[in-house]
Amino acid sequence: QEDASGKITWQKAPCRFCGTGCGVLVGVSGDRAVAVKGDPNCSVNKGLCCVKGFHSVQALYGKDRIKKAQIRKNGKMVEVPISEALDVIADKVKETIAKHGKDSVAMYGSGQWTIPDGYVASKLFKGCLGTNNVEANARLCMSSAVTGFMTSFGIDEPMGCYEDIEHADVFVTWGNNMAEMHPVLFSRMLASRKRKNNVTIIDFATRTTRTSQAADKSILFKPSTDLAVANAICYEIIRNNWVNWDFVNKHTTFHKGKTNIGYGTEDHFSFTDAPENITFEEYKTFLQDYTPEKAEKISGVSAKDIKYLASLYGDPTKKVTSFWCMGMNQHVRGTWIQNLVYNIHLLTGKISTPGNSPFSLTGQPSACGTVREVGTLTHALPHGVVTNEHDREMAARIWDVPVTNIDPKPTYHTVEMFRALDRGDIKFMWIQVTNPMITMPNLNRYRNGVLKDERFIVVSEVYPTPTTDVADVILPATMWIEQEGMFGNAERRTAHFDRIVPGPGDTMSDTWQLIEVARRLGFQKQFPWSEDEYIGKIWEEYRLFHDGPKHNMAPYKVLRERPGVQWPFVNGKETRWRFNTQHDPACKPGTEFDFYGRKDGKAWIWARPYEPAAESPDNEYNFWLNTGRVIEHWHTGSMTRRIPVLHNAMPESYVEMNPEDAADIGVVNGEKVKIISRRGSVTMKASINGRGVPPRGTVFVPFFDESYKINELTLDAFCPISKQPDYKKCAVRLEKA
Ligand code: SF4
Repeated sequence: QEDASGKITWQKAPCRFCGTGCGVLVGVSGDRAVAVKGDPNCSVNKGLCCVKGFHSVQALYGKDRIKKAQIRKNGKMVEVPISEALDVIADKVKETIAKHGKDSVAMYGSGQWTIPDGYVASKLFKGCLGTNNVEANARLCMSSAVTGFMTSFGIDEPMGCYEDIEHADVFVTWGNNMAEMHPVLFSRMLASRKRKNNVTIIDFATRTTRTSQAADKSILFKPSTDLAVANAICYEIIRNNWVNWDFVNKHTTFHKGKTNIGYGTEDHFSFTDAPENITFEEYKTFLQDYTPEKAEKISGVSAKDIKYLASLYGDPTKKVTSFWCMGMNQHVRGTWIQNLVYNIHLLTGKISTPGNSPFSLTGQPSACGTVREVGTLTHALPHGVVTNEHDREMAARIWDVPVTNIDPKPTYHTVEMFRALDRGDIKFMWIQVTNPMITMPNLNRYRNGVLKDERFIVVSEVYPTPTTDVADVILPATMWIEQEGMFGNAERRTAHFDRIVPGPGDTMSDTWQLIEVARRLGFQKQFPWSEDEYIGKIWEEYRLFHDGPKHNMAPYKVLRERPGVQWPFVNGKETRWRFNTQHDPACKPGTEFDFYGRKDGKAWIWARPYEPAAESPDNEYNFWLNTGRVIEHWHTGSMTRRIPVLHNAMPESYVEMNPEDAADIGVVNGEKVKIISRRGSVTMKASINGRGVPPRGTVFVPFFDESYKINELTLDAFCPISKQPDYKKCAVRLEKA
């Protein structure tokens, strides 16, 4: 499509959708974005683009785009000028704090927030209003990855980069359907296998998927038993003396957690569960419970396959990269399973060198940039935590607020925040770029809370969703390239994008909505920027938090010039492999590796036991329910279901069943099945012999379709360390509908 003069201009941006962070070129004709192609100059994707990215500009132009602000008056939503809506929000914040205290107002954002969005939200709520009630939906998708890094290395975010793909000889995907969730990275893996001809891909999962079909070997385990298999791999590595002793002696210490805290019933924020030093011999004794034969009984994975996996990791001639995402993150022992995969890489010394990488991927485009780095979680500050006096003082200085404004105590993590709303401890919640009325686990419980009297819900959105349905005020938001911003992807890469096309109607960026409300609340001094400069000014202010070689960020000018820049950015150079002295300038000289998250520069190898899921099938509810995504749709589908080609390709959700289970209840492909858990039920079509085949006793349901709210069935138990819920494991029963 071209304008009257036949001209399309192309401008760089990161893709709007997944955490891979592909660089794209957006084709613009007149004031309309008309096309997307992969950016050949971006090292993430080297010109590749998946089906979601390729069609992404159509998400800007759905017919029912929200263009005007709306306020609920006498039970009905009425369009109003956006300035009136912003006045109402500011008045409500003031009134709520005056009546119920500062912790009665809350902000709930997203890993799809741009970095400036998250930064100003944190500054307004934590710095100016004085409440730590800031959370983001990334709590639901990657907080176990954070606590995994913190407990193993004392510092967050991956050591590797996507270039590991071209260096590795072996890939193990741990519960991660990369073929659909990270298709561009998966294509790079397949291309590397084709080119080098000696690459092995192992898919280790609880169901077969397109990833298993393309892998050299698919190994299935029973839900939650990845803990036992990971320990058995370590047992085998030690038994065969495949340990890299030089690395282990110089760069690791051994630990166990003292306490065995329950499934997220307690509300605490320790990032380590009371660690205790142990010796290597004690660790070896702990592993006696995880011989391959014992792990086979727990996991269903044959001892032979466990030994094979161990031999791949243990082979000193092979470089191994492990990839994972939601299968390990959304796990009531999410922190522990990350520790165990790090153990494998630490015992073999296969870490922080090209091709040797334990690699935690992310789902959202800026879960790393906006949530982990800006710190939009209740316990966090930009590059710091509220519990640390030095971090609070730095935030107060940069934000120009009294240090006493910044509360040293975290308040509520996401699940607890919605419980506080239900109880009435929170009365006002502002939700931006996320759709919790689809995504909260055990959804009925939290929807009831939102709908109670005296709750005031503000939603900034681009399309109507089940969350805008419960709003008292809806603010029309710009999306993606209708605003300037930055995203931070899973390999520590920050990518800038310009405002390329105008947003429709009264739409306004989430950042600017927050600034407008902040000024109405009297914080002009803290939010002084003008509309034509605010993103650059915010970035440079935010960068003050990262002044140091371990985390330094590139200047605004550099970000504008390149299709993404990896941090730490030191002396004009990006860092690709952290903790490796050859590549990372923050390492102490004189040693090959420096895990500088800890004072002694050592990473921790953890003794973590196997534990079953919080809810397992029994006689009454005899199936496992696993939920997740499909390649065509982005999360709850609010954008991709408005892209005709994607909607037509995958018009409705389904329950994926094993053919024998389907025969047992008498359904054939396409017939309806009622899925019932202790919390709710959904009726949907069966998919038999489709993209994947779950093992007997397991069903899988994608969550993109708001017509089938599968999270009414899921369980709201969470990892007690990370507070991330487990969307992958609960018990259901099935009936032919
Ligand atoms: Fe976008 Fe992810 Fe697809 Fe890349 S892989 S084009 S970032 S959705």
